[in-house]
Amino acid sequence: MNADRRIKAPLLPPSRAGSLDLVGGELAWDFTNTTSARGSPARQEHLRGFDTLMQWVEHARIMPPADCAYARAALAGHPRRAQRIFERAVEMRELIWTIGTALAEQRPVAAKLIASLSAAHAANLGHAEIKMRLGSYIWVWDPRRDIAAAILGPVTLSALTLLMEKDLLRTRRCAGQECGWLFFDTTKNNRRRWCEMRVCGNRAKVRAARQRQRLARES
Ligand SMILES: [Zn+2]
Repeated sequence: MNADRRIKAPLLPPSRAGSLDLVGGELAWDFTNTTSARGSPARQEHLRGFDTLMQWVEHARIMPPADCAYARAALAGHPRRAQRIFERAVEMRELIWTIGTALAEQRPVAAKLIASLSAAHAANLGHAEIKMRLGSYIWVWDPRRDIAAAILGPVTLSALTLLMEKDLLRTRRCAGQECGWLFFDTTKNNRRRWCEMRVCGNRAKVRAARQRQRLARES
């Protein structure tokens, strides 16, 4: 490979889909947080295909490991089907992120976005069963019935439950300059600012310290 080609095709940093911090407070927000540094040139996409999608599904415990193994094996020889599921998942993630960002900025959410989310959820529910687990009934998806619904059903359920039952004012977008992560603020005083203090909070502290040093030098 010559030097030019190396420059044109820089190596992507490895996806962190299987190890991302799950700090969204709700599955739906954790799902939107599979892209880092949204809106900046440093944007990093962690979902890069069906394989990385499944790494996140297993990491976020959307399905037990045995079901994840089934889904992977079932689609191993069907790259086009796997790709379609991946594309649907990313489309759903962007829809939920757009809704969440509007909530975080206290803007009205367009009715057509809510309609798309509820239509997707209705379709997912068509593949779910109600089962008793730990003393109450919950929706359960089995990838043997429908793999896409088993991945996305719990996500659309989380997003709609948030919209219908939670305090919408507690949805936040991280104050980090190059972050874009969403979270549900469960703090008592309702004043959480960062996805993670040790990441975005510290970065902001370092930036503020540098700014102070610069101002001190210039004065
Ligand atoms: Zn952040």
